[in-house]
Amino acid sequence: MLRKTMLALADNETVTRMVTNNRLSRDLAFRFVAGENFDESLSASHNLLNAGMTLTLDLLGENVTDPDLARQSAEEYCTILDRIAETGTNSTISVKLTMLGLDISQEFAHDLMIQVLDRARLHNNFVRIDMESSAHTQRTLDIFYDLHKTYGDTVGIVLQSYLYRNDRDVEDAIEHGAKVRLVKGAYAEPETHAYPRKDDVDAAFRRQMERLLDDGNYPAIATQDDAIIDVAKGYAMRMGIDKSRFEFQFMFGIRENLQYQLVNEGYNMRVYVPYGEMWYPYFMRRMGERPANMLFALRNIVRS
Ligand SMILES: Cc1cc2nc3c(=O)[nH]c(=O)nc-3n(C[C@H](O)[C@H](O)[C@H](O)COP(=O)(O)OP(=O)(O)OC[C@H]3O[C@@H](n4cnc5c(N)ncnc54)[C@H](O)[C@@H]3O)c2cc1C
Repeated sequence: MLRKTMLALADNETVTRMVTNNRLSRDLAFRFVAGENFDESLSASHNLLNAGMTLTLDLLGENVTDPDLARQSAEEYCTILDRIAETGTNSTISVKLTMLGLDISQEFAHDLMIQVLDRARLHNNFVRIDMESSAHTQRTLDIFYDLHKTYGDTVGIVLQSYLYRNDRDVEDAIEHGAKVRLVKGAYAEPETHAYPRKDDVDAAFRRQMERLLDDGNYPAIATQDDAIIDVAKGYAMRMGIDKSRFEFQFMFGIRENLQYQLVNEGYNMRVYVPYGEMWYPYFMRRMGERPANMLFALRNIVRS
């Protein structure tokens, strides 16, 4: 319910203006967003890198339907890959196909992805395609598997456990040797496509995580849920799966103590670092995931 409301507010212009112009809500947002540009995101991530964590940089942006804007996003992704190489930062990138014009056409986004992947290959880096709403799932997977034939482990995908289809998608990914980041799923989905109950989502995540730990290609377990993280650690230990064969991924600014704890225990830990001027919808999704964040934000906005 809260998540649906926050996602609706993310599209409301008046609320957008209120939140983005309010100093306190901006301060709160920048606990989850690493800055408005590449340099700010690197300074905000300095301590994580020093502690031995790796990053995936995520340029925040919108679904674009103007081809020039999509080309511009592809250029920006390529520049980020250049800057990562220049600065020697231990970071990959995550991209959204709607920023590359997926809603203009599948071919258009596919061709722009080729530009980005060529640049990633040049720098020996890796590009993860984020997964968006269920309206984009099949098109995203089609593009991914086509590119995977040529680019192999230079490209990876995200699969969402809240979708009923996800057990099948996990098996397909295993069969193709594709690199998967497993997440619960962040969009407001109808009951026809996704489990409405959190318990069912958590159960699906555990089941699919175990499949990927058994037979996946360096799976990324992307959750801040400590109960599930404990299950992953226990399962890997029981099955003799070495810590080097998978990684945990957290979002920037969320449960930092646990991030440090995991890296100190010898696990691979990658932090998803969102940055950019278009931070508002990302911030609203994070607010919707946790009532405590929302209450804190509302109190601060009303007080100011
Ligand atoms: C690295 C990474 C990449 C992701 N990529 C995608 C993607 O491509 N597509 C997609 O749909 N989703 C993506 N997500 C989001 C994901 O789908 C979930 O919405 C999100 O991770 C929250 O779920 P959870 O697994 O942490 O579990 P939850 O059950 O939601 O949370 C578990 C615990 O984590 C903490 N927590 C979780 N969220 C917050 C928060 N916002 N603020 C403070 N504490 C919090 C709380 O303590 C909570 O009790 C990604 C998540 C991560 C970590």
